[in-house]
Amino acid sequence: MKKGYFGQFGGQYVPELLMPPLLELEEAMRSFMPGEEFKKELRVLLHSYAGRETPLTLCPALSARLGFNLWLKREDLLHTGAHKVNNTLGQALLAKYMGKTALVAETGAGQHGVATAAAAARLGLACTVFMGEEDVERQAPNVQRMRLLGARVCPVGSGSKTLKDAINEALRFWIAEQRTTHYCFGTAAGPHPFPTLVRDLQSVIGQETIRQSREIFGRLPDVVVACVGGGSNAIGMFYPFVLLNEDAGAGKTGGKVRLVGTEAGGTGEPGCYSSASLNLGAPGVLHGQHTMLLQDKDGQILPSHSVSAGLDYPGVGPEHAYFKQTGAVEYAVVVDSRALAAFAALCRSEGIIPALESAHALAWVLDNAASLPRGGQVVVNLSGRGDKDMDIIRKCLPELCG
Ligand SMILES: *Cc1c(COP(=O)(O)O)cnc(C)c1O
Repeated sequence: MKKGYFGQFGGQYVPELLMPPLLELEEAMRSFMPGEEFKKELRVLLHSYAGRETPLTLCPALSARLGFNLWLKREDLLHTGAHKVNNTLGQALLAKYMGKTALVAETGAGQHGVATAAAAARLGLACTVFMGEEDVERQAPNVQRMRLLGARVCPVGSGSKTLKDAINEALRFWIAEQRTTHYCFGTAAGPHPFPTLVRDLQSVIGQETIRQSREIFGRLPDVVVACVGGGSNAIGMFYPFVLLNEDAGAGKTGGKVRLVGTEAGGTGEPGCYSSASLNLGAPGVLHGQHTMLLQDKDGQILPSHSVSAGLDYPGVGPEHAYFKQTGAVEYAVVVDSRALAAFAALCRSEGIIPALESAHALAWVLDNAASLPRGGQVVVNLSGRGDKDMDIIRKCLPELCG
């Protein structure tokens, strides 16, 4: 495969001025990340600071109702409340190895901004976070968290004043400050090498899940489900399984694991903009990559919408576009109302408040239970916890909040 591409997707569609820092980053990945010193330092950070490894939790009540064992990979238990810290700690550490003194990042819902600010504080790096003006207003508690952690939050007033525009501003800032600054990109998307870098840092999720499945129920799961925004938690969960499935396809090991990514369908009404770029989008170029995008017939990017702000990205990581094309992973659309129903079910049945993003993955399992193997093993990646979603929950599920 061509370097930096996943089939026809990926690449580096960037201004000439961005090529030097992208090449520098690629070289740093090659020279530092495979080294024992880097790997050990990251392992210690992930364990003693972020809280890895995360458990694989059985849901007894839901399992009894569904007729198979439902397991949750508990990324919600990590420091800052989601899988994002796996990526930000890795990139912050790499930045230090590169001799950088600062991080710049974009954020939409604010979760990646908080995870970046925490990693920067921990590793002694300065931190600047670009955030659309609209999001600064909607996500005030996360803005406060970033500032508490020492980050400078820069509101972006251009375009739709949301994530897409914050990414453009962060890329521009990086061009100017590349000597001192690393761009800590928030998901497995953007120009090469970010999709590969973020995938490799998040693959710890899938690697642990494989090990824990073998330990706890003696084999690989039948089905693994994860939600897809930009695609980082899903690619981190799926990638190690895709490699095993390729071996299985070559006849080297046992049966294949079914992998399902869930995109956010918004309200599901006609004319509503969803975030389902893989299922409803078309190929195009955004943020330095060739991938599947939500766009109108003139190629204008459409505003994305979902009840979960973290899934609101009009594009998707290029490797997911490739896995959809090859059939390595299936991608389904889950609408707001089904995610909310799954959210409620997990709160009341298992005593776990999931992020609304993660509830999209759970909803697919609950709504497709009849077609899943009876007595089987099904894993949902619980990408984050739901404390951040209380305002929306109060509005959408008032009966649950008393
Ligand atoms: C940010 C976020 C997502 C979406 O991002 P991906 O890169 O697609 O993983 C999903 N779940 C939670 C909890 C998040 O915070």
